[in-house]
Amino acid sequence: MIQLNMFPGGKRKAITFSYDDGPLQDIRLMQMFDKYGLKGTFHLNGANYINKSEAELEEIRKRYEGHEIAAHTMRHGDLNRMTAVSIVREVLDDRMILEKITGYPVVGMSYPSGRFSDHVIEILKSCGIAYCRTTMNVGDGVEMPEEFLAWHPSCHHKKAMPIAEDFVEKLDSEWNRPVLYIWGHAHEIRTEEDWEYMDKLLKLVSGHEQAWYATNIELYDYVMAQRALRISADDSMIYNPSAIPVWVELNKKQILKIEAGQTLKLK
Ligand SMILES: [Zn+2]
Repeated sequence: MIQLNMFPGGKRKAITFSYDDGPLQDIRLMQMFDKYGLKGTFHLNGANYINKSEAELEEIRKRYEGHEIAAHTMRHGDLNRMTAVSIVREVLDDRMILEKITGYPVVGMSYPSGRFSDHVIEILKSCGIAYCRTTMNVGDGVEMPEEFLAWHPSCHHKKAMPIAEDFVEKLDSEWNRPVLYIWGHAHEIRTEEDWEYMDKLLKLVSGHEQAWYATNIELYDYVMAQRALRISADDSMIYNPSAIPVWVELNKKQILKIEAGQTLKLK
């Protein structure tokens, strides 16, 4: 029996953050992420970056360095109230600006105001979006979704403390959900008390050996590589066709690492 239940380094748990709208408070939040060794994804609206100089765009790139920049549509409209053509334009225009800033393909996204439908999901597929975060909080952690275009988070940061405490307590458990996925808007962190709360929350979830701290796209890429493994019928050969190493658990006894491109033979 081979279980796809291991993150990089043979860790059982992952922790990720997702913040929307690109307010200036992102800077202070990222300083806290960096202080505690956490990783976040920041979903930006391209309309805020048109008519910016090369130097200004470079400043934005540097601002988010070490974290992921992802899409949030060009102008933050309601995707459920748009024509298909408008949705395509809102997503592709946003991607093109963000890709100019980042220098990498931007295929992550979050839904403006959490609004989406099956129809919207189909259109995002045509726009090359790989994952899209909703605002539908599932509570005590997250399973890896079948449909990454409706990736439900654990909780908003304001309600995260009890969920984070519980998650951290059960880091060694193989039974509770594998991912703590916290989202919010940095512009909701208004007072010094709010910042103190964030500091306490981030400190609580940081520095745990058993947890992998990843951006949303790192988590997505890893799960895709995990799902792409080819395992022989008798479990004796595992081929990893992806470009990153993948860890699995054999018979609940042994953690195995399969290097990129490797066929691991167990007999
Ligand atoms: Zn938003």
